[in-house]
Amino acid sequence: MTVEFEKIKRQNMIKLPYMLDFYPLQDAKFTRIDRFFQNLKERKLTTTKCKACGKVLWPPRIMCPECFSENLEWINLGVDGELYAFTEMKLGAPLGFVEDVPFCIGLVKIGGLLISARIDGAKYEDLKIGDKVTLKIIELEDDRIFYRFCKVKE
Ligand SMILES: [Zn+2]
Repeated sequence: MTVEFEKIKRQNMIKLPYMLDFYPLQDAKFTRIDRFFQNLKERKLTTTKCKACGKVLWPPRIMCPECFSENLEWINLGVDGELYAFTEMKLGAPLGFVEDVPFCIGLVKIGGLLISARIDGAKYEDLKIGDKVTLKIIELEDDRIFYRFCKVKE
C-alpha cells in the first residue's frame, strides 16, 4: 500500500507558543525520540520496543514503563491499518485546527497497537468500523512532520 502525503499550508497561520503547539519540537536537541520524526520523513511509522521484556511501546519512549530498561529498539509498524473506532470533531477543535472542522478522528489498529489519529479521505457518514486505512504523512510549512491515516478507496 502506498503512503499518502500532504503538505499543509495554512492561511493566517498563528505561531503558537511551545506549550500550545500540537506538533512538538522534533529536533534531537529537544527530544530523544527525534528518530520517530526522521523515520516519518522516510514515510515509515515506527515506535520503540523494549529489548529486555519485549513490550512494544506507544508512543515511542526512551525508557520502558514496564521494566524500566533503556535498552530499546526501533520497529516499523507498517503503513496499513484498520479503523477500530472513530468520531467526528464538529466544534471545539484545538487552536490551529478550527478551520478544518468538521474532521474525523479515530483509533487505528496497526502493528498490534491502537493509535489515535486524524482520519482523512472520508466524511464521518462514509466511515465504518473495520475500514482499511493507510498511513498519511503531514508535513508542515516549517518542515516539521506528523502523521494521520487516510481511508483506502474501495
Ligand atoms: Zn521492558
